[in-house]
Amino acid sequence: MTRVALVTGASRGIGRSVAEALAADGLHVACAYRSDDAAAKETVALIEAAEGNAAAFRADVTEESDIDELFRQVREWAGPPLVVVNNAGITTDGLAVTYSRAEFDRTLGVNLTGTFLCAKAALKDMLRARWGRIVNIASAAALRGNPGQTAYSASKAGLVGLTKSLAREVGSRGITVNAVCPGLVETDMIAGLNADQRQALVATTPLGRLGRPEEVAAAVRFLASEDASLVNGAVVAVDGGLTA
Ligand code: NAP
Repeated sequence: MTRVALVTGASRGIGRSVAEALAADGLHVACAYRSDDAAAKETVALIEAAEGNAAAFRADVTEESDIDELFRQVREWAGPPLVVVNNAGITTDGLAVTYSRAEFDRTLGVNLTGTFLCAKAALKDMLRARWGRIVNIASAAALRGNPGQTAYSASKAGLVGLTKSLAREVGSRGITVNAVCPGLVETDMIAGLNADQRQALVATTPLGRLGRPEEVAAAVRFLASEDASLVNGAVVAVDGGLTA
């Protein structure tokens, strides 16, 4: 039976690369996105051009009704998703002294609560199958503070706690839960950083460069595979040594 994967935030950046990597492993990949239909269709087209199988599904991960509908549609399309990559995320930087409560709530809502809701929705099928792979995309900011990123760091550190607790909760049912912590990766998310900010981060990265989305996808691909059967509750830094 062909395995089905669901990747949130698959319309671009790291999520797109993860979707492509899982499709290359033969999984049918549901590419979830919030708003950019054209970009999500482009991800599907890239996968199909490489002889893979994918479809795009719109869902805002902060809306439980969207998530329920997303899982229903994916099941109907190809079967229950037993590999779920919680990648959808936002960053809204600002110094704490002027940062609004609304922005703080929004950042935690997408990055942390959205991941919890998707993981929860995925578990029923995984428990039934007694097999599953949940991979949460956290960040180097979970392990190392950044000025201007109190909300983002808190949301990503929260994901590490969520990952470890869930790994203990469902490990005995053949379900693994792991987190990947990318360093600075060349995507739309970092487009707002100026040259000095990039240089400062690159300067503290032993490899001396930014990451590429496919380098993060390679780690996710492994964690989603049978080969990673003993890896559970792990927090895998994919950051060129930024947090070493
Ligand atoms: P990106 O290019 O900005 O893409 C973000 C993706 O998340 C898009 O597909 C977007 O969908 C989706 N998304 C945002 N809010 C959503 C919501 N409420 N519901 C559903 N989907 C939503 O970001 P990226 O750089 O690829 O980042 C992917 C993940 O890696 C994020 O969790 C990010 O925090 C993490 N990360 C990134 C870096 C980095 O340097 N780039 C470093 C560490 C960790 P639409 O296109 O439809 O808006």
